[in-house]
Amino acid sequence: MNDNIFIKVIIFFVHLFPVIYSQNASTYIYSCNRPGVVALTYDDGPSQFTPRLLQTLKSKGVNATFFVLGVAIIKNGPDALKAAYKGGHQIALHTNTHPHLDSLSKAAQITEMTNVQQVVYDSIGVIPFYMRPPYGECGSECKQTMRSLNYIVTLWNDDSNDWRVGSETGNKQPQTTLHFKNLYGPIAKANPKTDSFIILQHDTDETTVNLAPDIIDAIKEKGFTFDTVAGCIGNNTPPPYKKNNNDSIANYGNNVTNLSLNNTTNSNITNSSNNATDSNITNSSSIHTSFATRLINDYILAIAGISITLGFL
Ligand SMILES: [Zn+2]
Repeated sequence: MNDNIFIKVIIFFVHLFPVIYSQNASTYIYSCNRPGVVALTYDDGPSQFTPRLLQTLKSKGVNATFFVLGVAIIKNGPDALKAAYKGGHQIALHTNTHPHLDSLSKAAQITEMTNVQQVVYDSIGVIPFYMRPPYGECGSECKQTMRSLNYIVTLWNDDSNDWRVGSETGNKQPQTTLHFKNLYGPIAKANPKTDSFIILQHDTDETTVNLAPDIIDAIKEKGFTFDTVAGCIGNNTPPPYKKNNNDSIANYGNNVTNLSLNNTTNSNITNSSNNATDSNITNSSSIHTSFATRLINDYILAIAGISITLGFL
């Protein structure tokens, strides 16, 4: 057999490894990687309350992350989105119409994302790398879709539950108290030397916007600093925005594929009362198991391929 061909076959399969790895790697995050850092995130906007929230964030010197809806930008106009972007906040995607992504076909999932991406691009001229699924629901097919579109699926490890504390019947405490307790409870018990948080809130909720100064002050007093999601997950991870529509998560270093392995996050999420979130933990572990299995299977196939190829040479 020709040595040259043998070397080429080996080189071919060595080069196949990163392709296999990047295509199977699940890229979703629950928390910051940098200890002592908190990322405030706001979903479902922009809303009529967003401009006031932006004023608060500016006066406190805090950069946050906004997971926006296409329909909200269309309904309320792009001004708040433009102001948030110009103010140094990270703009990320939350779908176009806030559906349950797992109930949609792959084609409809893609349409949701391409529509909101287009509205954002038309408003501020950038293509976000980060998305958050409505209700925290993104099963294996949804994750594959988001991976194929090169979005980082961003969840959370601290849930204010602001959207429901106001409407639940039987609450004996004011909404602001419950919201603050939900949000600050995990932080009160945390250590800024080891812990970090992605906090879920909604800038469509007036109480959330009213509470923002107190929440920021309390978190600062505990010894945490603030950053955007892209800023708080550390080095060698994708920036907030793609260079162009073809920019890939795989272009941004090895840390990306480790993002979903954060154990602190998973234990925090287990404590959350959000069932949708809990189901994601199960998905998280199973995806890693199936990833390892798939990787082994891919290599068995690759070795079989080499053997067959060599047999013919
Ligand atoms: Zn939402």
